[in-house]
Amino acid sequence: MQIAAGRLFGLFGDPVGHSLSPHLQNEAFRLLGINGVYLSFAIKPEELGTAVAAVRCLKMGGVNVTIPHKERIGPYLDRLADDALLTGSVNTVVPEDGQLVGYSTDGEGFLLSLRHQGGMEPVGKKVVLLGVGGAARALAFRLAQERAAALYLVGRNPEKTAALQAALRDRIGFTAVGLTFTENDLAAVAAEADLVINATPLGMFPATAERPPFPLEACRRSCLVADLVYHPLETAFLRYARRLGLPTLEGLGMLVYQGILACRLWTGLTPPFDPLYRLLHGLLQKELPPA
Ligand code: NAP
Repeated sequence: MQIAAGRLFGLFGDPVGHSLSPHLQNEAFRLLGINGVYLSFAIKPEELGTAVAAVRCLKMGGVNVTIPHKERIGPYLDRLADDALLTGSVNTVVPEDGQLVGYSTDGEGFLLSLRHQGGMEPVGKKVVLLGVGGAARALAFRLAQERAAALYLVGRNPEKTAALQAALRDRIGFTAVGLTFTENDLAAVAAEADLVINATPLGMFPATAERPPFPLEACRRSCLVADLVYHPLETAFLRYARRLGLPTLEGLGMLVYQGILACRLWTGLTPPFDPLYRLLHGLLQKELPPA
């Protein structure tokens, strides 16, 4: 009996036990007819160099990277692609001509979800980003590059907000406004906004009652409210927005699109959105089975 050579793919992070990525990528491979298997690997920070060496040694087809390694893996790779260089964060590692190249698909994943599910083009829009961490950084660069009219960065740590403002100014010449959650004129900012995005973990399982302290009640009825948190599908923030009659965008679309982009980088093939979205939607409505 002959067994066709398959390729190993994986997720490096810690913790990874409840990640949806193995479900998403293994289904994508099945739909595309790719002989690959995707597993999650719990990797401690001190093991990261060895884990990257294993990618080379085992000739893995590619890996995703999640917390706490996104900002740390760069030095172990041979090269960073533009998005990863700009944001200083890597979520996808791709073997290319004997080298390992780091990419960031988070920003592009959000944009695809914003366009296809949210029905919004970012050009000319006034955007409020709540949180200034890794995901917010990826979104800020892509939204600025897509010529958003204004970007309000709302962070609890003014130094981190200032660092992101400086990176946007120095690297792509974009001026963003920095604010804190206790600012007096947050309601005035809300009243101007076309898009408000929660890029903090507030509301994520198990603390599902939490939501970022932002005055959505001051927003116009056309303002789209997005959450990057996808577990639960409907966060307390989105529920509050819906009660106010505002349109909403769940975080699951971004998760699926960033995975589709990673799969395309590894295989050159683009898996279809709808079946992958349905699969993860179903898993999130039940108890998550172990990957
Ligand atoms: P991160 O790098 O840790 O950044 C989190 C940000 O939220 C930081 O600015 C942090 O402030 C702020 N924050 C945390 N707790 C807060 C609180 N109680 N009040 C106000 N601000 C608070 O995390 P990340 O990687 O950007 O991820 C953020 C969220 O997006 C997570 O829930 C993650 O699951 C989700 N995400 C979703 C997708 C998707 O595909 N849908 C992709 C990536 C991330 P400090 O810096 O002061 O701590």
